[in-house]
Amino acid sequence: MSSETSTISYAASDYKSDVKPVWCPGCGDYSVLSSITKAFADLGLAPHQTSVVSGIGCSSRIPAYTTTYGFHTIHGRSLAVAAGLKLARPDMTVLVAGGDGDGFSIGGNHFLHACRRNVDMTYVVMDNRVYGMTKGQPSPTTEADWDASAMAPPGGTGLTPFNPLAIALAAGANFVARAFAGNPNGTAATIAEAIRHPGFSFVLVMSPCVTFREEQREWKNMVRPATAEPATDPAVAAERLMHDDGYNIGVLYKGDRRAYKPVTGSGRTIAELDAEFAL
Ligand code: SF4
Ligand code: MG
Repeated sequence: MSSETSTISYAASDYKSDVKPVWCPGCGDYSVLSSITKAFADLGLAPHQTSVVSGIGCSSRIPAYTTTYGFHTIHGRSLAVAAGLKLARPDMTVLVAGGDGDGFSIGGNHFLHACRRNVDMTYVVMDNRVYGMTKGQPSPTTEADWDASAMAPPGGTGLTPFNPLAIALAAGANFVARAFAGNPNGTAATIAEAIRHPGFSFVLVMSPCVTFREEQREWKNMVRPATAEPATDPAVAAERLMHDDGYNIGVLYKGDRRAYKPVTGSGRTIAELDAEFAL
């Protein structure tokens, strides 16, 4: 998070811009936006010391709806842009927001390496197991037999869904959690904890797409708080995850890897670097 702590106190509303969200009524992303702004307020983050970076998709509209610095980047590339920002401005708190298609399909490679590099930033993925903005195609996290959309093949894709939490653990993320949009205070607390935790923090928020995944309204009756304390060993967290039915909410893993620090002071001037890369 930002190295500069503010003496001014902020309300969640201080982080909400005047731009009215265009999400469908009932979309889980409204609640996640509120959780993010509440987390910022609870941490007392100055808007000018905070950035929200996103890719493309319904949830990636979030930078426009906040008063912090923001960057609505290109599809699947939000983590690369955010890592560059954090390395150039280590004093800034950087939060990356997006969806399952943007993050795990188009941006899958960046997700792996963001976990591995462990740059100090927080990645919040609003997972609704569908490409919502492009009208209902199956995403990497869609169930194998889901075919309720005209955009899905009859009988479903037959493909085993991507498991983002397990991948994050295996790739080296330093904080891994699952949250639910229908529990905005709990999600805000988890996001605040993720921001405070050093290194790359990953929060998967189950965020219903009420338009293309109507059945996700039932998630509110299916989720429950996880009973176990966060693991400090990724193998223990992975074991727990593999026996989990996908509806336990809470922090799964808190590691102690040191956040990435760039090598500085190469001593080379711009002219020398120019010469090195001259064709
Ligand atoms: Fe939300 Fe789905 Fe509508 Fe997109 S299509 S705004 S994810 S409900
Ligand atoms: Mg999606």
